[in-house]
Amino acid sequence: MGKLFQEPQLPPPRGRAVAVVVNANVWQAYDYLWPQELGTPAVGMRVRVPFGRGDRKLVGFVTDCQARPTRQELKEVAELIDTAPQLDETLWRLGEWISHYYLAPLGMTLAAMIPSAVGRHRKQTETVAYLTGERRDWPGRLGARQRQLLDELYEARKQGTEPLPLESLTRHSGASRESVRRLRQRGLIRLASRPAKLPELPGQTEADPFELNDDQAAVMRAIQEKLTGGFSATLLYGVTGSGKTEVYIRAIRRVIEAGRQAILLVPEIALATQTMQRLLRRLPRVAVLHSGLTDAQRAFYYDQILQGAASVVVGPRSAVFAPARKLGLVIVDEEHESSYKQDNIPRYHGRDVAVKRAALADVPVILGSATPSLESLRNVQLARYGMLRLPHRVRGLPMPKLQIVHLRKEMPRGRVELIGKTLTDRMAAALDRGEQVILLMNRRGYASYVFCPSCRWTMSCPGCTRALVFHQATQLVMCHYCRHTEMLPERCPACRGKLLLFGLGIQRIENELSRKFPAARVARMDSDTMTSAAQFKKVFDAFAAGEVDILLGTQMVAKGLDFPRVSVVGVASADTSLEINDFRAAERTFQLVVQVAGRAGRADLPGWVVVQTLHEDEPAIRFALSHDYDGFAAYEMPSRRETRLPPFSRMVRLIVRHADQERAEQGAAALAAGIKKLLAGSAVRMLGPQPAAVKRIRNEFRFEVQLLSDKPGVIQKALLGNMGELSRGARAEIVADVDPVNLL
Ligand code: ADP
Ligand code: ZN
Ligand code: ZN
Repeated sequence: MGKLFQEPQLPPPRGRAVAVVVNANVWQAYDYLWPQELGTPAVGMRVRVPFGRGDRKLVGFVTDCQARPTRQELKEVAELIDTAPQLDETLWRLGEWISHYYLAPLGMTLAAMIPSAVGRHRKQTETVAYLTGERRDWPGRLGARQRQLLDELYEARKQGTEPLPLESLTRHSGASRESVRRLRQRGLIRLASRPAKLPELPGQTEADPFELNDDQAAVMRAIQEKLTGGFSATLLYGVTGSGKTEVYIRAIRRVIEAGRQAILLVPEIALATQTMQRLLRRLPRVAVLHSGLTDAQRAFYYDQILQGAASVVVGPRSAVFAPARKLGLVIVDEEHESSYKQDNIPRYHGRDVAVKRAALADVPVILGSATPSLESLRNVQLARYGMLRLPHRVRGLPMPKLQIVHLRKEMPRGRVELIGKTLTDRMAAALDRGEQVILLMNRRGYASYVFCPSCRWTMSCPGCTRALVFHQATQLVMCHYCRHTEMLPERCPACRGKLLLFGLGIQRIENELSRKFPAARVARMDSDTMTSAAQFKKVFDAFAAGEVDILLGTQMVAKGLDFPRVSVVGVASADTSLEINDFRAAERTFQLVVQVAGRAGRADLPGWVVVQTLHEDEPAIRFALSHDYDGFAAYEMPSRRETRLPPFSRMVRLIVRHADQERAEQGAAALAAGIKKLLAGSAVRMLGPQPAAVKRIRNEFRFEVQLLSDKPGVIQKALLGNMGELSRGARAEIVADVDPVNLL
C-alpha cells in the first residue's frame, strides 16, 4: 500500500561491512565498516575496532567477510593487525570448539590463542638498563621491588650479562614504570635502546646415554606404531622414575626424523627443572615458551614454529596453541596437574584441548603421569584412550619406602611441634651422611589465623570474607585470595581481649628447623618467596649444587624434581588438602603424597619418605603409602559413580559476579530460572543458586549455579546459543567454568 506513494528514501550505501568478534565477554559478532584502504578482508584477520560507549579499541577477529554493502551507520575498523590470518584452519576450528565446549566468547578465545606481540607491529628495538654506580651508592631506603631490580642488574654485571632488557627486569621484579622512572631520576640506572636481541633456538643432539629397558622398549614400540596411525589418545601410566621422560625424548626424535613437529606440554613449574635441561641436551631446535620471555622473544619463537624451523615446542598450557603446521605428536606430561586448567576466560583445560587438537590434526597424543587423573582413567575404561604402563622404576631401583607417622602421638606435651620425632631422626641421619632433605608443607605463609580465644572472633578479609593469615616476615596480615593486607590489631576489636596466632605454616617450620638443625642450610620454595621463574631457578640451582641441605616448600617441591642426593622426603602434614571441601580432595592428597614421595631415592641412595598425618586411616594416604594407584582408583571410582560426580558426569559451573551483593544474588536467581527453562525435560541436575565457596573476591560478590549431566556436551548445547540472553537477564557478569578443577 505504501507503494502508492514514494519509496522510502534510503541513504546511499556507505561501504562494505564485515562481522567481527571482539576480545570481550560478549556473545555476538558486530558489523563494522571495512575501509577500502585496508585491502581485501579475510576470515581470521585480526583487527582493532572501537567498541562500546567509550569506543575503547579492542582486538577482534573477522568472522564473516562477505563484505556486504551496508546502509547502516556503522563504526569503522580502526586498524588491521595481520595481513594474513594467523590461525590456520585446524587452530581456527580448535578455537571454535573451545568457545563452544567451554562456553567462552569466541573473540576472547581466539585472542587467547595468539600472543599479543605477534603481528605487524613487532618492535625492532628494545630498551635495556645499565647500573650506573656501585652497590654502596644505593640509598638505604628503597622499595622492595626497586631493590630487586637493582639486585638483578648487579648480578648481571657480575656475570658479564649487563645490560638487561627493561621488559624482563620489570617483569621479574614487579617494579612499575613509575619506579623505573624514579630509579632513573635518582641516577641509579641508565636506559638505552638497542636492536632487539633474538634468541637462537636452543637444543643439542647428544647421543642416548643408555639403552631403553624392556618396559620402555615395549612402550616405545607401541608408540612408534601410533605415530603413523593418525589420531589416537594414549594414557602413559608410569610410576615416578620409570623413565617416561626418556620415552618422550625418543618418540619426539622419531617425529623430527619424519620431518614433523612435536608439542610437549609441561606444568608451569617444570620449565625451570633439570627435565628441561635434559630435553635441551637431547633435542634440536626447541622453542621453550616460558613466562619470562620478552614480547620480542615470544614473537620470534612464534615465527620459528610457524615457519617450521622449530622442531619441538615445550611450554605450559598455552603452548597447545603453538602454530606448528607440521604437527606430528602432542605429549602432555603430568596430565593430572591442575595447573593445566586456565582460571580466567577461556577457562580451558590444556590437557583436554591437547586431545582435541590432536584429533583435529589427526595425530597421536600421549598423556603421561604417575598418578593419572580419574577423568583420564575413565576415558581408558570407556576405550576412548589406550593405556600403556611403566610399572617399575628404571635400573631396578626400589620404590621409596613410605612411613606413616601419627603426628599427635609424637607431639611433646604442652608444645606445638610440627616435625615429629621420627622425621627429626631420619632427617638428622641423612644430614649427617651429607645427603639432602625435601620437606613439604602443604600450606603457605606462617598460616597463622588471628583468633580471639575469649570471644572466638577471627580476623577475616573485608573483601573476600576468608580468614586472613599472619605473615611473620612482614608482620602483616594478608588475604591469600585477593592480597588485601592489614596490620595486626593489638587487641580483639570485639572484646578487647588478647589475640592468639593459631595454626601451622611454613615459616613456623622454618623456625623449628633452625632450632633443631642449626647447622643445616635451609631454602624455601613457595609462591610467597617465588614470584618469578628466575627466583625459582636460583633456589633450584643452589639445591642441585649441594649448597642447600633442606629444601622446604609447598606443593612446588612435589613436582618433577630429580635430585640424586635427596634421601629423605618429609610431608609435614598430609591432611591439609583433605580439609578443603572439594570432591577431588582425596584424589589430590593421593597425588601429592605419591608425587612428593617420588622425589626420594631416584638414584642409588635408598629413599625414605615420612608422611605425618592426623588421619592415619584416611584411604587416600593408605594407598599412597604403598604406591597403589590401581587400589586408590578402585576405591575412589565407585564413590564418584554413586554420587554421580565427575568422571561419571560432566560439571558446568556458572558464576555470577557483581560488586553489589544483591545484584549478584538476584542475577544468580534470574540465571537459574532461565537455565531451568532451557533445560526443562532434560536429565541435567542443578545445584543452586547459592553463594560460591569464596563468596567475595576482589570486592565482587560471587554466586553460582552448578549443573551436572551424565553425558558430555548436553549442557553446552542447551546454553550456548543463549549465553547472551542469560547474561542480559542476570544483569551481571556471568562466567562459565566447564569441567571445573577449582570449586572455590
Ligand atoms: P620419569 O619421567 O618417569 O620420572 P625419567 O625419564 O626422568 O623418569 O627417568 C628417571 C631417571 O632414570 C633419569 O635420571 C633418567 O636419565 C634415568 N633413566 C631413564 N631411562 C633409563 C634407562 N633405560 N636406563 C638407565 N637410566 C634411565
Ligand atoms: Zn574477642
Ligand atoms: Zn581478600
